[in-house]
Amino acid sequence: MLYLFHKAHSLPQKIAIIDSEGSHSYQKLNTDSDQIASFLLQGNPDLNEKRVAFMVNPGFDYVKIQWAVWKAGGIAVPLCITYPLPSLSYVIEDTQAELIISGPEYIEVLQDYAEEKGIRFLTLSDLGSSVSSLSLPKIESSRGAMILYTSGTTSLPKGVLTTHANIESQISTLIEAWQWTEKDHTICLLPLHHVHGIINVVSCALWAGATVEFLHPFDAKQVFGKFREGKINVFMAVPTIYFKLVSEFESSSEKEKEALFDCMKQFRLMVSGSAALPVSVMEKWKEISGHYLLERYGMTEIGMAISNPYEGPRKAGYIGKPLPRVETRLVDEENKPVEIGQPGEIQIKGPSVFKEYWGKPEATAKAFTQDGWFKTGDIAVVEEGYYRILGRDSVDIIKSGGYKISALEIEEVLRKHPAIKDCGVVGIPDEEWGELVYAALVALEPIDFKALNQWMREKMPAYKTPRNYIQMDDLPRNAMGKVVKNELKKLFNPESK
Ligand code: ATP
Ligand code: MG
Repeated sequence: MLYLFHKAHSLPQKIAIIDSEGSHSYQKLNTDSDQIASFLLQGNPDLNEKRVAFMVNPGFDYVKIQWAVWKAGGIAVPLCITYPLPSLSYVIEDTQAELIISGPEYIEVLQDYAEEKGIRFLTLSDLGSSVSSLSLPKIESSRGAMILYTSGTTSLPKGVLTTHANIESQISTLIEAWQWTEKDHTICLLPLHHVHGIINVVSCALWAGATVEFLHPFDAKQVFGKFREGKINVFMAVPTIYFKLVSEFESSSEKEKEALFDCMKQFRLMVSGSAALPVSVMEKWKEISGHYLLERYGMTEIGMAISNPYEGPRKAGYIGKPLPRVETRLVDEENKPVEIGQPGEIQIKGPSVFKEYWGKPEATAKAFTQDGWFKTGDIAVVEEGYYRILGRDSVDIIKSGGYKISALEIEEVLRKHPAIKDCGVVGIPDEEWGELVYAALVALEPIDFKALNQWMREKMPAYKTPRNYIQMDDLPRNAMGKVVKNELKKLFNPESK
């Protein structure tokens, strides 16, 4: 299980983490997590895959606890710091966590709850008590390491159990593909209870011996302020963050814009993922930073699987090609590979693929084909070697009058309208057609739907143009900034559940 800790030995003085408290070296991360692991192990040689839930702000304290849980042989269950108690208790009870660790900000929320449920409760200051250091257990790579919950975009979040081997594979694939080194300096703006933040940003940086800086909570002005310090060279975010940064850039003075362009030009890599990157945002970002964003595709269950190339052309609207050691295929409803150029479900095999949905053997069995391919539920097509996502089979592929229509394609066209800032397209049940295309719009001004429809009809065939529109102030989004389409469906069709 040395994969995360080896830099602590080879680069002890290097700064691993910068947060609101200051700078923390690799050595400090290693010794502090050893000490906490010893504390957790008192009276016990090994936590033996006990689930340890922790609610701690992103930063040094978060990472040292996560490492300590791993060193002591536990399964880390990071809690979302913005969840209300019912969502937290869903995760704590679902994982049968035996210990809860709380940052100072969350004691009030968690302490009484833990007491009521009879779960051991510790604060960060409890963990600081001095204990004699114990010898740490040997951790086999096949052991469970972490339970992360899916984003809950399509249904209740599912707990995804990954082993140390899975995590090691997810990290090493990205280190290789995106060429992380100890010279890198990145900034983490993302929540740490999802793969994007904890694996792609934090764990890759720490494996590579790089420095990771935390900025929390998100503030576009402060992000640009950090950029202008001139140290950051790797940046990863979700499309909504890029969208907000573009707006912030546009409201800056000409002088600030020039300075920002100059410092962003120095970046080595800028990545987008977790949801489809609108082509308009990619183009705008190129204009303001000089960078083609590298869009990639992944899931809680598989880590990152498909990515635009680090070197070589990055195609707007495409997620790229399979990453090293990730086997991919596109199949039809009978799990038979489709012909080249035809749409199909993405299925994945490889060492990064998770072990199981925690406590849900039936869901786990259903998620794999008999010959071991993981069924992502995402539909894509390959064009000139690059994968293009058409959407999730359950919500983005609209089945209307015998056609299968990609909501994402329609959204791309709507976004080209000068008054439309954002949009979400869904299929609403219809007796005659199966489903009909409906669109929710966020716009700069009141939209004349009739005129919009005319505009759409010039750009797409009639069967793809929305039958109904609504205009709203904001689209319903979850913590990862993904549009929750089932909420949109309810707006159009209040009877649907
Ligand atoms: P739930 O499984 O609970 O409904 P979720 O699928 O959103 O939530 P995650 O595991 O966080 O939970 O997200 C994985 C999904 O995100 C993928 O299955 C895919 O639909 C979407 N996704 C990730 N990257 C991209 C991308 N670059 N383009 C389009 N979709 C993406
Ligand atoms: Mg999912």
